[in-house]
Amino acid sequence: MNPLRSLILAAARNGTIRRLVATAPVSRDVVRRFVAGETTAEAVAVTRRLVDSGLTVTLDHLGEDTTDKAQAEQTVQAYLDLLDQLHAQGLADRAEVSVKLSAVGQMFDEDLALANARRICAAAEAAGTTVTLDMEDHTTTDSTLRLLAELRQTWPWVGAVIQSYLRRTYDDSVALAAADSRVRLCKGAYKEPDGVAYQDKIDVDKSYIRCVNALLAGDGFPMFATHDPRLVPIIGERAEAHGRKPGSFEYQMLYGIRPDEQLRLAQLGHTVRVYVPYGGEWYGYLMRRMAERPANVAFFLRALATRS
Ligand SMILES: Cc1cc2nc3c(=O)[nH]c(=O)nc-3n(C[C@H](O)[C@H](O)[C@H](O)COP(=O)(O)OP(=O)(O)OC[C@H]3O[C@@H](n4cnc5c(N)ncnc54)[C@H](O)[C@@H]3O)c2cc1C
Repeated sequence: MNPLRSLILAAARNGTIRRLVATAPVSRDVVRRFVAGETTAEAVAVTRRLVDSGLTVTLDHLGEDTTDKAQAEQTVQAYLDLLDQLHAQGLADRAEVSVKLSAVGQMFDEDLALANARRICAAAEAAGTTVTLDMEDHTTTDSTLRLLAELRQTWPWVGAVIQSYLRRTYDDSVALAAADSRVRLCKGAYKEPDGVAYQDKIDVDKSYIRCVNALLAGDGFPMFATHDPRLVPIIGERAEAHGRKPGSFEYQMLYGIRPDEQLRLAQLGHTVRVYVPYGGEWYGYLMRRMAERPANVAFFLRALATRS
């Protein structure tokens, strides 16, 4: 793994650095490039703007690694409120939600996480939209896929996420490419050991393409989450080779990253879904975006220097 990426991901777990960055006044401004805001109203306003420009949305209430029941409950309530608003404002057919199971109890009580996820899925169904379960570090993969299978017994539309940096993921993509299965393929955002994950970008990218082919060959609905200018045209070419029409798969990108490319693909008739994070717990999310691209660190440091 690139040493800068390792360093930033290590910083993401360091309590002192976390406090320093989270309380620096400039952080709030910089974070707005990647995060819709702290409140439901701000998240819904950004969703409205994206939908009006021809995009679709998945919303993530920021927060992860929750260690107590009360905090997990707050996350559930935030999703219930959000789903209510999406429905009330007529956005539910274009906007769904993404949920991290660690934010609803997975780290300390898997049964509680499942019960909480069920409440969010039921609310999504009532609102007329769907839920995708984000994937976190590799120690959670089995548990997340287990809970996904449970949820899909009631709500077959619950989306899965697989990460091409994991050596296991080709097999997971074959297993998940069944009828009606919504599967997001991303590269993976965590620092993972060599034993379970490819370390070189080229190997992660090759794995990504193998999984693209496996998902397109199956009967499910693939959701290709990448900003990679090399991979996006390959996905388009592979989709055509598999006889997939626009609408039988979708592209996904993060809020604030390659917005022109998002619009270009949508104007070509593709479904493009923007992942929109919001909420007060933006630190871990911001650090992963920094780790992906040194230019983002330079952007952050420049903003700090301008302020000081
Ligand atoms: C919709 C969506 C959902 C995701 N869900 C998950 C999840 O559940 N679990 C998980 O582990 N990961 C998730 N990710 C993150 C993902 O795993 C990658 O860390 C992230 O997308 C960067 O990988 P990349 O495919 O864009 O390619 P990279 O190899 O990181 O980048 C390729 C190129 O894309 C552009 N680019 C990439 N990142 C940035 C950036 N931050 N700023 C500006 N340009 C950039 C640059 O041109 C770069 O050279 C998600 C990503 C997306 C888009």
